[in-house]
Amino acid sequence: MSEFCIIGSGISGSTIANLLNKKYSVILFDKARGPGGRASFKRIKGKMGFDHGTQYISPKTEEFKKFTKNLIKKKILKVWNGKHVFLNSKKKEDKKHLKIIGKNGNNDISKYLLKKINCNYHSELKKIYYKNQLWYLLFDDGKLRSFKNLILTCPFPQLKNFLRNL
Ligand SMILES: Cc1cc2nc3c(=O)[nH]c(=O)nc-3n(C[C@H](O)[C@H](O)[C@H](O)COP(=O)(O)OP(=O)(O)OC[C@H]3O[C@@H](n4cnc5c(N)ncnc54)[C@H](O)[C@@H]3O)c2cc1C
Repeated sequence: MSEFCIIGSGISGSTIANLLNKKYSVILFDKARGPGGRASFKRIKGKMGFDHGTQYISPKTEEFKKFTKNLIKKKILKVWNGKHVFLNSKKKEDKKHLKIIGKNGNNDISKYLLKKINCNYHSELKKIYYKNQLWYLLFDDGKLRSFKNLILTCPFPQLKNFLRNL
């Protein structure tokens, strides 16, 4: 049994999974068919596609700047030099912060962070119970899985539904 179960492969779930995996065994589930959550990339044909969530990231903390710089060096991320067209003429281009995107799509960060993680896609969590110090998770395939530690990274409206009976 994995020590930690993480629900969600967005930037939150993949960061947490990557950090915990340095010391513990981790398993991750996501209802989507691939990683990234709200920073997903929709493939249309071959390498062609589009980001349908996060457009770019602008790191502001030193730690995050260092993290993205390292991924730029590894050619996982790159700087975006495009320009915005503002319909509101009072708005100006933010030249102070770098705009960073994935080399192949904005789910590249999650893909990189989850490289060593046991990820299960197409796995939607339906219900949660807590009994005898274990979390019991019911998934859409009808399977009930139990874990000692559970981390949920679903958006808040979904979390609220799960936690109603707890
Ligand atoms: C249109 C749009 C544009 C944006 N643009 C930017 C931008 O330019 N720059 C920026 O920094 N941020 C942007 N954001 C915000 C950014 O995308 C989010 O803050 C960030 O992706 C959230 O990451 P997260 O991991 O917390 O959650 P999510 O990415 O939502 O990850 C949650 C994951 O949980 C999974 N999940 C949910 N419920 C279940 C369940 N029951 N069972 C299994 N899995 C489940 C989901 O499939 C998802 O993969 C944008 C958001 C949107 C929607």
